[in-house]
Amino acid sequence: MLEELKKAVYEANMLLPKYGLVTFTWGNVSGVDREKGLFVIKPSGVPYEDLRWEDMVVVDFDGNKVEGKMNPSSDTPTHAWLYKSWDKIGGVVHTHSSYATSWAQAGRSIPCYGTTHADYYYGEVPCVRCLTGEEIDEAYELNTGKLIVSEFARMDKDPEAVSAVLCKNHGPFAWGKDPVDAVHCAVVLEEVAKMAYRTELIEPRVQPAPQVLQDKHYYRKHGANAYYGQGK
Ligand code: 13P
Repeated sequence: MLEELKKAVYEANMLLPKYGLVTFTWGNVSGVDREKGLFVIKPSGVPYEDLRWEDMVVVDFDGNKVEGKMNPSSDTPTHAWLYKSWDKIGGVVHTHSSYATSWAQAGRSIPCYGTTHADYYYGEVPCVRCLTGEEIDEAYELNTGKLIVSEFARMDKDPEAVSAVLCKNHGPFAWGKDPVDAVHCAVVLEEVAKMAYRTELIEPRVQPAPQVLQDKHYYRKHGANAYYGQGK
C-alpha cells in the first residue's frame, strides 16, 4: 500500500546523507497521506546504504504500524503528533545535524541574523525546553511532539512560517508541504545554524537583523504578495 508515497519518503530519506545531515542511522523522514489518515516513515536503525523503498513503514496518526516488516522509526510518535496537530504539513524530518544540534544542546534559539535565515523562517527558530523526567519516562517521543506543538501555540508561532524547531539537549525537527520540502527546510536550518554560530564568533555583540529587512525577505518569498522567482 501507499507505494508512491513509500518511494517519495525513501528518496527524501536518502537526501539526508547526500546533504551531510546524518551520521550512521541518525535521523528520519516521513510523509503523510491525509486522505487515508496514514503516514510513511523510515524503519528504525537501518543504515541508509541498506535502505530500500519497500522497507518504509506505514503507520497511523497514533503511531500504530499498519503495514511493514520492520519497526518504524523510534521518533514515529513525534511525527504522528505533528501531523495530527498541524493539518497543513505533509512531511517531517528529524536529524542530529551538527550545527543545529549544537544550538539545541546549548538550549539556544537561533536568532535571525540575516537574510539567508529571513528568506525561510519568520523570526528566530525556537529552542523548546528539555522534557521533564516524568515526561521522558511516560512517553518520551510522544511528549516531544506535544511539547513542540504546545510551545508553538504559546509563542503564537505559525508552523508554516517557522518550519523548524530545536529540542533542547536533543536536536532539530523540520517540516514542510511534502517530505522533500521538509528535507529542504532541514538543510537550510543547518546552514543557518552554522552561519549564526560563526556570526557570534566574529561579533559576540551582534544583534538580529532589522525587522524591516527580515519582513522584506520573508514576505517577498511567502504569502499573497510574494514576488520572488517565476511564479508571478
Ligand atoms: P531511528 O533510526 O529510529 O529513526 O532513529 C534515528 C534518530 O535519529 C533518533 O533520534
